[in-house]
Amino acid sequence: MADKNAKGGCQCGAVRFETSSAPKFVCNCHCRSCRKATGGAFSTWVGFADKNIRWLTKKPSYHASSKGVRRGFCAECGTPLTYAGEKWAGETHFLIGVLDDPSAFTPRKNVFTEDALDWAIHKEE
Ligand SMILES: [Zn+2]
Ligand SMILES: [Zn+2]
Repeated sequence: MADKNAKGGCQCGAVRFETSSAPKFVCNCHCRSCRKATGGAFSTWVGFADKNIRWLTKKPSYHASSKGVRRGFCAECGTPLTYAGEKWAGETHFLIGVLDDPSAFTPRKNVFTEDALDWAIHKEE
């Protein structure tokens, strides 16, 4: 995986961040929780270690979408931004669309495929 720094933020710019390392992973999540939280058919997440993330503005606001999980969003414009869960302590996962250059990263796997919409995934993989 390319060693690239990433910058990003919400639609209105009230929440901005940058990262200082390559991501730990890039994956498509097909779970129902992500679907509801983002409004998308599935979500592509880019995961970084917390120590490699710097907030350039105020941090996101948070919603506890399930036990041990908090999802970050911009309180000004509503953009969903991040996921952090107890299962992945020390990491923050960003929705790929909030990166300034989402094309820099390519998802390498699909997770929670059992929840996937039929048309949203190639089932034969
Ligand atoms: Zn915003
Ligand atoms: Zn999910």
